[in-house]
Amino acid sequence: MIVMGIESTAHTFGVGIIDGEGNILADVRARYTPPRGMGIEPFNAAEHHSKEAANVLRDALSEAGIGVEDIDVIAFSRGPGLGPCLRVGASLARYLALRHGKPLYPVHHGVGHLELVTHYYSLRNPLHLLVSGGHTSILVLNECRYRVFGETLDITVGNLLDVLAREAGLDFPGGPVIESLAEKGGELLDLPYTIIGTSFQFSGILTKAIQLLKSHRIEDVAYSVQEVAFSIIVEAVERALRAVPFDVDGIAISGGVASNDTLYKKLGVMAERYGLKVYRLPKRLNGDNGVQIAVVGLRMALAGVEPPELSSTGVVQRWRIDEVDIPWAC
Ligand code: ATP
Repeated sequence: MIVMGIESTAHTFGVGIIDGEGNILADVRARYTPPRGMGIEPFNAAEHHSKEAANVLRDALSEAGIGVEDIDVIAFSRGPGLGPCLRVGASLARYLALRHGKPLYPVHHGVGHLELVTHYYSLRNPLHLLVSGGHTSILVLNECRYRVFGETLDITVGNLLDVLAREAGLDFPGGPVIESLAEKGGELLDLPYTIIGTSFQFSGILTKAIQLLKSHRIEDVAYSVQEVAFSIIVEAVERALRAVPFDVDGIAISGGVASNDTLYKKLGVMAERYGLKVYRLPKRLNGDNGVQIAVVGLRMALAGVEPPELSSTGVVQRWRIDEVDIPWAC
């Protein structure tokens, strides 16, 4: 079986192709970068995706050494994400499915992040930490759904880093820039530490950090934001770990912010106390990509899920991950 996954929720237009064992045959992406000092403008990003879609598709097929006719299943990111961007991927996916008579699976983008790391390390049932621009959640797969054991109550950690970088006049995405600045910082500045049970908040950190930019070195602000935000996340993961009523076989971290080495190390120190390993994908696979969507498409096909009618494959901009049925876990 050969599965194609199409990703277009936000900044990245990607096409991933995998075989029936989940081996990656192609992973091609084009990324939209907003002008310095700006966030992602949905229509500009969609325009970028429209221009790049055919090139990305062509390059992916060529990388895999196949034609569209060789694809058995097509999957695409149905949401959550930016409407105009989602529609570019959905339209291409529907066209290919209709034109070539292929089954089409709409996929929840966040489930793609989680399933890719589970698949990559053949994990049975880890505790997931999904950290990105769209999500900051602690989850476990149980009885047909990803159950949220803790999450941000306001902005995501990716948003915290991206907006801080933008306010400081730095490039998008902010996470990698903040990470390298933080390596040159060392003074721990006072920032709000808000954790409520296994959930948490970051907007207070963002407000205070923007104020601190006026009076302190940006390296120290970046260092402090990472220290405080990541300590909050790790503390919430530890609390969730103790609350989960069954055994997990590790902690799986995914999403773009998973590439941050400070967060990964902090999580590792905590996990070791519980005799658990932290599983992180090769950095390239943490951010949005088509392979993660293909992996979910493969799981759906193998589970015998009936593909929906094309007319009911519309995009969904706001879509909680715990609203999605996971048929292969039932
Ligand atoms: P989602 O996948 O939930 O829809 P998203 O579209 O923002 O969110 P990702 O590509 O998974 O998708 O993550 C992008 C985020 O990851 C951005 O906020 C970016 O700043 C952050 N990021 C990338 N690399 C790093 C890093 N090294 N350290 C911290 N953050 C990082």
